[in-house]
Amino acid sequence: MGPPGAGKGTLGPRLSTAFGVPLIITGDLMREAARRSDALGLKIRSFVDAGELVPDSVVTQVITSAIERPDVVAGGFILDGFPRTLPQAESLSQILAERARKLDLVLVLEIDEQTAVERLALRRQCPQCGAVYHQRFFPPKQAERCDRCGSGLVQRSDDHPEIIRQRLAVYYQQTAPVIEYYAARGLLGHIRATHSPEGVFQSAMAIIRKRVPAHQPVAG
Ligand code: ADP
Ligand code: AMP
Repeated sequence: MGPPGAGKGTLGPRLSTAFGVPLIITGDLMREAARRSDALGLKIRSFVDAGELVPDSVVTQVITSAIERPDVVAGGFILDGFPRTLPQAESLSQILAERARKLDLVLVLEIDEQTAVERLALRRQCPQCGAVYHQRFFPPKQAERCDRCGSGLVQRSDDHPEIIRQRLAVYYQQTAPVIEYYAARGLLGHIRATHSPEGVFQSAMAIIRKRVPAHQPVAG
């Protein structure tokens, strides 16, 4: 968890590789659905483009089918961007309980609003493989081209100043209470997200080692 721009999308793939478990990125699933021109796609796009949360019922359904895959349920997984409201947190508890699984840890990336805005305004993303760049901090080797797959990079439709402000407001109003929900259940691990990506990754690994020693990295 963490506000938009905190670095969830930068940390997630590294943890996924380190532990050899799938990463479920809700924002990517929403953008993928929003690209379709059926009624549901258009509905989702209207929320994403306005910087609003997609209705709980829609998101929960998408997440449930992503989790339901047998390999995901059995081997464990990392969620990025879900849950973002208290009803979503309740749904996740129920989904996991029904499958005899439990949440091990909730990592919270902490960042000030100004730094988050600065990061998002110059973020670029590969529409093909999802790799994330920053025009100033982490530019691709070749301008506007993905280092990994060579596709042209894009600026997300919701990475514009007024929509960024709206997304941050939504985070503090609707998502911050979810942090309290997990604090009450003793599941939180806090990370200062203003360090380098490597520093953030090492902090995450240190927390996981301490709090969930049963999980051993398989790589890096
Ligand atoms: P989130 O998924 O939380 O919205 P991202 O991982 O997409 O955040 O990061 C937002 C932007 O900030 C991206 O352009 C990314 O390259 C950049 N970024 C991520 N982590 C760091 C960091 N530790 N220091 C500086 N910039 C970062
Ligand atoms: P992200 O890529 O995580 O910044 O998410 C981009 C957008 O997708 C958000 O601004 C929402 O419109 C939508 N979205 C992602 N995750 C959720 C969620 N858990 N609940 C509702 N909407 C979501």
